Amino acid sequence: VKELPESRCDVLIVGAGPAGMMLATWMARCGINARIVDKRSTKIFNGQADGLQSRSLEIFDSFGFADRALKEANHMLEMCMWNPGEDGTLRRSDRVPDAIVGLSRFTQIVLHQGRIERFFLDNIKKHSKDSLRIERAVLPESLSISEDLCDDHSPETYPLKVQLRHLTEEEATPAQSNGETIQDGLFRSNLAEDDTDDLIAHSRANAGSTEVVKAKYMVGCDGAHSWTRRQLGFELEGEPTDFIWGVLDIIPITDFPDIRERCAVHSASSGSMMVIPRENKLVRLYIQLTEIKPDASGRADRSQITPDTIIKAAQKIIAPYQLTYKYCDWWTAYQIGQRVGTNFDYKNRVFLAGDAVHTHSPKAGQGMNVSMQDAYNLGWKLALVVKGVAQPSILSTYQSERRRIAQDLINFDHKFSRLFSGRPAKDILDESGVSMTEFKDAFVKGNMFASGLSVDYGSSMLVAKGGDAAEQGDGTDVSSSKTQIAGNQELAKNIKLGMRFPSYKVLNQSDARPWHFQEWFKSDGRFRLVVFAGNVLSTAQKDRLDAFCGKLTASAFLAPHIHKDIDVLTCHSAKRIETELLRDFPEVLHPFDDKTGWDYNSVFVDDLSYHEGHGEAYKNYGVDQERGCVVITRPDQYVGFIGELDGEGVKGVETYFQGVFVS
Ligand code: FAD
Repeated sequence: VKELPESRCDVLIVGAGPAGMMLATWMARCGINARIVDKRSTKIFNGQADGLQSRSLEIFDSFGFADRALKEANHMLEMCMWNPGEDGTLRRSDRVPDAIVGLSRFTQIVLHQGRIERFFLDNIKKHSKDSLRIERAVLPESLSISEDLCDDHSPETYPLKVQLRHLTEEEATPAQSNGETIQDGLFRSNLAEDDTDDLIAHSRANAGSTEVVKAKYMVGCDGAHSWTRRQLGFELEGEPTDFIWGVLDIIPITDFPDIRERCAVHSASSGSMMVIPRENKLVRLYIQLTEIKPDASGRADRSQITPDTIIKAAQKIIAPYQLTYKYCDWWTAYQIGQRVGTNFDYKNRVFLAGDAVHTHSPKAGQGMNVSMQDAYNLGWKLALVVKGVAQPSILSTYQSERRRIAQDLINFDHKFSRLFSGRPAKDILDESGVSMTEFKDAFVKGNMFASGLSVDYGSSMLVAKGGDAAEQGDGTDVSSSKTQIAGNQELAKNIKLGMRFPSYKVLNQSDARPWHFQEWFKSDGRFRLVVFAGNVLSTAQKDRLDAFCGKLTASAFLAPHIHKDIDVLTCHSAKRIETELLRDFPEVLHPFDDKTGWDYNSVFVDDLSYHEGHGEAYKNYGVDQERGCVVITRPDQYVGFIGELDGEGVKGVETYFQGVFVS
């Protein structure tokens, strides 16, 4: 056995799927000494997850690569529902917008997971200056935790010891199930057994090389069969269901009129199908395979499922329309299981994210999104703790915030799957059938959830809603994260505490360019203090603003953090052409740099633009145009605090950050 020298890292990430990549992106962005390993030798090239919800695009934009996804993806704007009419023939019954109008500046798009992973890889490379690379064909084989060191967060403490095993290229390359040229995803499907233990055993027998890594934190992003979860002895709770689905990515040849629309097709008695139009003329079909049932073990025989079985099932569902193909890009099959992890962390040292803590059906397009968003929630917290900026206790909010989202996801998926997989009711007396009106209602209502924008984090030291976090109903012990203060929701009625900061158009004070305000909420690891300065042309308001800024810079606690850990953004409501950056706004709002002069990208105005209309930001945010207010957003854009633009407001800001920062 070749043993490599023992090494140390701050954060060890296991698994380089969407969750692991998102976490690595944060690590790169915040300059953390991290490693990321994956048992597979290559990234995904096609197939797998493909739906990106609005919130994921907002997140991509905050890292600077949404434009790449938007350019290459297919944009889904309308959803059509097809089901049998009174004569039993399939017909279009409804058209609805695919996303709720006005909720986000992005709508839903589809692009396969391989491209999304590519964007992450490029971003990680750029920000880490190529020092953080995915180490492929590497997997952990043992984890030991020094229990007595877990609560000691001093910089030289490494409570985790992980033995990593390096595989050969051959060991790390999954075999395709049919030995054919069409790629399939069966090896990653829940119909296949996990191969982690076999890989380790094979490598041991062949005397593969190993190394020991000491880490401060570890994150298991290793998918539904999570090895990390197994080491911790945590379970996924829930049940598999009997519904078996096939997935085909094909270029269809068809006379079905809505093949370029997202469609839910319920046939009278041959099952249901989801049509997802994709990039490059591809279409993904999600098809329920009614003729394949699980055996006594509860699992279906995967050898019965081929692209041919799947397309035959699709042809029956879509009849009388014709459907064939010459080109198949990828296919897979899976059985829906809806499960949530019992625990998302072990002593705030080992964390689980993504499919490792929640599995569910893919057709609502949630898995990759929610998985990435778990890691998006955790990444900046870990980075700030490793850097010694934030108190380690903020790490408890990962489980309290994300476990509830996972439960909501399972409930959503449960409802949606039942309505989707069920046979359409013939009439109102047909009780075992699914009412198509109910299906449509569930889709429209579920749209808010499915966009990722309904996330509303409970009270904690990071969300000053007041009250006790334990009351938020997820049952976790969050006594350490009681809020000291309560933000005043009334001052910004539509900037909800606990939810992501919404976006409206504002103009740059210095050059009149319109921006979506959210574009300036970059994922750079900093909190944001958003100063709604109000009508700065009124003397009384100008005095309030000056007093507020004076107290802010005079605060011994806040001053060292301002601009370093807290970015300051301003939006005022006076006329742009009657106000002057240098005359009307205190320096803290547009700091001066010896080398580059004034900051011209931090003061914005709610005013009419030359080419893009008026964003009506104050009105939309529900902020008083005269008096304004102050808002704190976390590095992930969720709203932490809202206060008055006065001395009390400064105190609130100070108290908020005293609960988060080390000093
Ligand atoms: P994974 O993507 O499973 O990644 C885990 C990674 O860890 C893999 O790279 C694996 O090689 C590695 N790994 C595993 N074990 C180990 C180990 N022991 N050591 C080292 N590395 C390890 N989601 C959507 O949002 N939208 C969709 O449209 C959608 N469609 C889907 C369609 C299909 C057919 C399938 C199968 C899934 C779909 N999903 C969809 C779900 C989505 O793919 C997953 O939810 C998402 O990939 C989860 O991301 P993850 O990073 O948590 O895990």
